[in-house]
Amino acid sequence: MLSVDYSEPELLLGGVRVALAREREPVFNPATGEQIGSYPLATTADLDVALAAAQRGFEQWRGVTAHDRGKVLKRAAQLLRERGEGLARLAALESGKSIHEARIELNAAADLFEWYGEECRRVYGRLLVSRGAGTRLTVRKEPIGPVAAFAPWNFPLGNPARKLGAPLATGCSVIMKPAEDTPASALAIAQSLLDAGLPPDTLSIVFGVPAQISTYLLASPVIRKVSFTGSTVVGKQLLKLAAEGAKRTTMELGGHAPVLVFGDVDVDAVLDLAVAAKFRNAGQVCVSPTRFYVHESIYQRFAAGFAARVQSWPVGDGLDESQRMGPLIHPRRLPVIQGFVDDARDRGARVLAGGTRLERRGWFYAPTVLADVPDEARIMNEEPFGPIAVLNPFRDHDAVVHAANRLPYGLAAYAFTESRRTAALLGEQIEAGMVGINTFRIGMSDAPFGGVKESGHGSEEGPEGLEACLVTKFVSEA
Ligand code: NAD
Repeated sequence: MLSVDYSEPELLLGGVRVALAREREPVFNPATGEQIGSYPLATTADLDVALAAAQRGFEQWRGVTAHDRGKVLKRAAQLLRERGEGLARLAALESGKSIHEARIELNAAADLFEWYGEECRRVYGRLLVSRGAGTRLTVRKEPIGPVAAFAPWNFPLGNPARKLGAPLATGCSVIMKPAEDTPASALAIAQSLLDAGLPPDTLSIVFGVPAQISTYLLASPVIRKVSFTGSTVVGKQLLKLAAEGAKRTTMELGGHAPVLVFGDVDVDAVLDLAVAAKFRNAGQVCVSPTRFYVHESIYQRFAAGFAARVQSWPVGDGLDESQRMGPLIHPRRLPVIQGFVDDARDRGARVLAGGTRLERRGWFYAPTVLADVPDEARIMNEEPFGPIAVLNPFRDHDAVVHAANRLPYGLAAYAFTESRRTAALLGEQIEAGMVGINTFRIGMSDAPFGGVKESGHGSEEGPEGLEACLVTKFVSEA
């Protein structure tokens, strides 16, 4: 088993670690159920300190040239790579995910800082055609202001990096509340930025009771933008709070990704990709493939192959190099996942693999495959956020597109086909912010990441991520 140095998480207020006496809550290793540390709960006085720092930090950081902001981000990327193995182990310890996934995530976080370190130089305005001699008409892009960001636990390094990359690249300051389940990983990302030369006032990291923190921060006139990744239910609550102050929002909410597998594919090749994608991070991924619609001509073979691969899928502590799938993040998720399975079974679904928690320490649920699941089952309508794949057959193109689009979610969707025409049609017809055709690879630093419908709005990553942190100003000079 790999070893990890775990130092006690503290608050970071205006870039300064605050180790004062605060009420604390435990942090657990989900692979063992053992406590590994504790995090402090920020008081409202702490949040006031963070807000005042964010205001000062914004005024300072927006005045730094894009070239110099970019240098800080690129240096932070380099530090992340240098510290890579230690940070990957930290993320695997706190979240339970496999160390292999944590290493990939660490590299993605570094890539994101590096890419934004370059791209922030390309925030341009526009010069309009003059309306007379000596006049000048310009459209300027300016940073929106201090951002309140809320990052979940499923990508302990990647989510904080996404929450910080674009705002800092454009000249905003940030107060981030990372998930309380994975505090040390988020602090390590923040530390890389501070060590790279980010002005301290530009960044605060707070923990506490999530609803209390978000309500307090969003009520402050200092905060000009809210960026949240998490469930659609919580996203809607934050949208209402943001509306009170007419604040800009980026909402990366839940998903329920369909996977359309047409009859012309290499079944084994698709299965190899599909099983790995489904059980990545035990299915606790917003773009996790969940509803597999498989052409009836290959359905039985696909279902049998899926179940066979899952039976031997290596499940265990993420810090054990031989494992591919870890536990759920919290014991409260076990009955939730069991509820989805029991409900589907009661409605006639077949359980081809898994279907129960694993009898061992830690919060493990078996990788699970359900087949022939009716649309009325809860799992066909609510985001499971766990290790469950649902398989159903389809016959014709229009019907499967309708099935894929029938939910209010629209984050990711996937399709597998050898037909160029089918691929082109699906690219147009599927209602999702991201569509993978013959691939599950959709997140990359230069591509927009975000959803449509109730999966949210706005993008993180790509130039679109910068745009989401900018306001537009028109200046007319006579
Ligand atoms: P949860 O809704 O309690 O928490 C999810 C995340 O949102 C946590 O990081 C939490 O700190 C934060 N949060 C919750 N209430 C908040 C509030 N009022 N203000 C600010 N932040 C708040 O759920 P959970 O049991 O930890 O996780 C399971 C659910 O979370 C799943 O059903 C899934 O939909 C959702 N989730 C989604 C993503 C995603 O990437 N879209 C990531 C993590 C969790």
